[in-house]
Amino acid sequence: CGIVGYIGNNQARDILLKGLQKLEYRGYDSAGIALASDDGVELHKEKGRIASLEETVGNEGRGTTGIGHTRWATHGAPSRDNAHPHQSLSGRFTLVHNGVIENYQQLKRKYLSDVEMASETDTEIIVQLIESFTGEGETVDEAFRQALALLHGSYAIALIDNEDNETIYVGKNKSPLLVGVGEESSVVASDAMAMLHVTKEFMEIMDQEIVIVKKDSIQVKKLDGTAVERSTFTTDIDE
Ligand code: GLU
Repeated sequence: CGIVGYIGNNQARDILLKGLQKLEYRGYDSAGIALASDDGVELHKEKGRIASLEETVGNEGRGTTGIGHTRWATHGAPSRDNAHPHQSLSGRFTLVHNGVIENYQQLKRKYLSDVEMASETDTEIIVQLIESFTGEGETVDEAFRQALALLHGSYAIALIDNEDNETIYVGKNKSPLLVGVGEESSVVASDAMAMLHVTKEFMEIMDQEIVIVKKDSIQVKKLDGTAVERSTFTTDIDE
């Protein structure tokens, strides 16, 4: 299981699919990508191999911002509905997640009792919480941090917003995650290996930090909103 993300001047589709192939060694039962352009967010997901996902996407799939996922099911059987990315009720937010949310049932009862879930995953509550908090007037940055602060368990998360295709929101706790800096582009990956075709310069993310990723900037924060300074490193792994 793994996650990837890309934001830049190039089409994200092939960059993400190649990244997912590099993560195949981690094991998975389904895969998906979401692409954001000025026309909105497109979602493609499929049970089975990345090759089948690639066929499903076909020649479609436009967008210079995108996120991708290989799933190793922990909650909910391997199926297209349970495959990531998952979307919020209105379709505004789209999210991928690796890890396990231990308290998802409690969170659902407390905050989302009137929300009909589209999947059986522990993941979906995260994206529904974010939508619910923005509905109460919070900014996406605030809603994202507030939702993550409620989670017990492990996560590497990437989120995109239908209303802003120039940002990927990323969060991490006890699951691997790196952000990479390319030329007028930024990437997200569970393993640097997945994105060496874009860059060799990466930034380590610590547990309970979020990152606001844009093509020309990377902003790290703690869950309480405090800014974090972090430098990048250059990996010597070859593609
Ligand atoms: N717990 C999530 C699910 O079952 C994510 C699994 C993963 O890490 O791939 O969908």
